[in-house]
Amino acid sequence: MTTTTETRPFEAEVAQVLHLVTHSLYSHKEIFLRELISNASDACDKLRFESIANPDLLAGDAELHIDVSWDKDARTITIADNGIGMSRDEVVANIGSIASSGTRRFLEAMGAEQKADARLIGQFGVGFYSAFVVAGRVTVLTRRAGAAPEDGVKWESDGRGEYTLEAATVPARGTTVVLHLKDGEDEFLDGWKLRGLVRKYSDHVAFPIRMPKETPAGDDDDAKQDDAAPAWETANDASALWTRPKSEISDEEYQAFYKSLGHDFNDAAAWTHNRVEGSQSFTTLLYLAAKPPFDLMMGGRDERKGLKLYIKRVFIMDAAEELLPNYLRFVRGVVDADDLPLNVSREILQHNRQLERIKGACVKRVLDLIEKLSRDEPEKFAAFLKAFGNTLKEGIVEDAGNRERIAKLLRFASTRGDGDAQTVSLDDYVGRMAPGQEAIWYVTADGYRAAAGTPQLEAFRAKDIEVLLMSDRIDEWMLGHLHEYAGKPLRHVAKGELPLDEAGKQKQEEAAKAAAPLLEKLKRLLGDRVEDVRVSARLTDSPACLAMSEWEMAPHLAHLLREAGQDVPESKPTLEVNPAHPLLQRVDGEADDARATDLATLLLEQAQLSAGAPLADPAAFVQRMNRLLAG
Ligand code: ADP
Ligand code: MG
Repeated sequence: MTTTTETRPFEAEVAQVLHLVTHSLYSHKEIFLRELISNASDACDKLRFESIANPDLLAGDAELHIDVSWDKDARTITIADNGIGMSRDEVVANIGSIASSGTRRFLEAMGAEQKADARLIGQFGVGFYSAFVVAGRVTVLTRRAGAAPEDGVKWESDGRGEYTLEAATVPARGTTVVLHLKDGEDEFLDGWKLRGLVRKYSDHVAFPIRMPKETPAGDDDDAKQDDAAPAWETANDASALWTRPKSEISDEEYQAFYKSLGHDFNDAAAWTHNRVEGSQSFTTLLYLAAKPPFDLMMGGRDERKGLKLYIKRVFIMDAAEELLPNYLRFVRGVVDADDLPLNVSREILQHNRQLERIKGACVKRVLDLIEKLSRDEPEKFAAFLKAFGNTLKEGIVEDAGNRERIAKLLRFASTRGDGDAQTVSLDDYVGRMAPGQEAIWYVTADGYRAAAGTPQLEAFRAKDIEVLLMSDRIDEWMLGHLHEYAGKPLRHVAKGELPLDEAGKQKQEEAAKAAAPLLEKLKRLLGDRVEDVRVSARLTDSPACLAMSEWEMAPHLAHLLREAGQDVPESKPTLEVNPAHPLLQRVDGEADDARATDLATLLLEQAQLSAGAPLADPAAFVQRMNRLLAG
């Protein structure tokens, strides 16, 4: 065995994480135990998986387990596993120098949230470093499965910028992490305390977590064994929770298991646990998160975690992307399939018919679960929609097969709703449509106030027709794919022709005839700034608004897209006017062409403003307005 010790610096970002961890994480310090046990459990999972192809790796030590022990005199806590272990390169890559993408995101999130909560750390793939919350020095001894005892590695660091690496003889396969506690952390040198933490955070780890047996007298010193072979006892439940019958699992157990999946330390909002028997048997246990975990919105599409695929209780991989569509990315849980080959790869999974069926079942279960929540627990459902409603809307676009089911779950603000609260369902709307009303009317805008203030709503208000007020950015995109609901078309209040009854049509025609000279005048004054000018059936109080053709993009959206650098073709607006309005009568009566042009242009500009379109020349607009105000 070589005795040379190599000292290396941590990569800058890792050093930053360590600094944060040791200086800012004061709450829930005990999380270190959960994180290290979770790593040990991952290591056992990996070995079990690799041993399917290569049984020799288990080499006479097939019972995977995790041992937690402590030493009052040495002031150490030791977490040991007989899992996959690490080679020297792996040690360097995994816990030394290479900053994972999670490291960066952790720093960003923590930077925003000083006094960070230690429980967050595991979400970002930097859980190992939580060891330094309580330890002033950490020693890792490890040996890769299949490697010889003398090919072991010893890693050590005080978490302050550097670590050492040396070759070591490690008698058994796996990894041992020794925490040399900081002053003041002695509360963790206690069997009762540690056992409590194992139960609280790690009860559902699928491997036995063993701790030295204590005598009934409870004398702590007995925990340290005099002889070489301590008597161990298992401290956790160690069963795969999802394999037990539903009736025997308490809500607390379900919640504890949810947290043990990682990524979220809050309670889940709801869950669904099902066993399908038949030509293809599988078990699903799926949870809805109550709040968006940090990584959900930041992580983006390529790093989705939280849904674990097991085959006959052997963990295979994180397979959120293979098992659920993207719009259900707030789901966490476990799928255990009986009939897939154990040696599946990600490539195989992507084209596997059985998996397609399981995926379909997962989607159905999740939608059932959300529906049930909407029926039985309105408050939880409202909180869920607040957190994930916009994510769910992506499903309208992504999952045509379930479009109607998803639409049923959405809630919107409405002219008959409760202010800006999004509480009106499409079923509510359809249920109170006026006799003869054929469409579901909505308006989109960049914000609730803009939507509620849309001039085109006036005619609807006058006729007492409800209008849904859509103001989330994703709505426009979603509505491009949601053309009807319950057999009723969805229509934008500003788009296309307004359907009028016979009396209405006649009135409209008369108004247009009477206003013909005014319309001609406006067209002449506005010239090529407008496509057309016509009499509006949509206005009662406002002087003017923009009309859009059926397929035209809403002006506020076109504006957004242009700002985002997209090429959106310019289209000339069509101006709709209300000839009964005093401003229009002023234009009509104005003999001075310059003043009439000012007035006409202002009409166009205010219509553009309330539609959320930017003005081409704001300075000219202000001058025009001032000229008219000054008389
Ligand atoms: P994560 O577990 O999310 O990947 P961690 O910071 O907890 O992030 O661990 C970093 C990596 O270190 C793990 O992915 C794993 O490769 C390695 N590692 C940590 N502990 C062990 C262990 N007990 N056995 C084998 N590898 C380990
Ligand atoms: Mg970890």
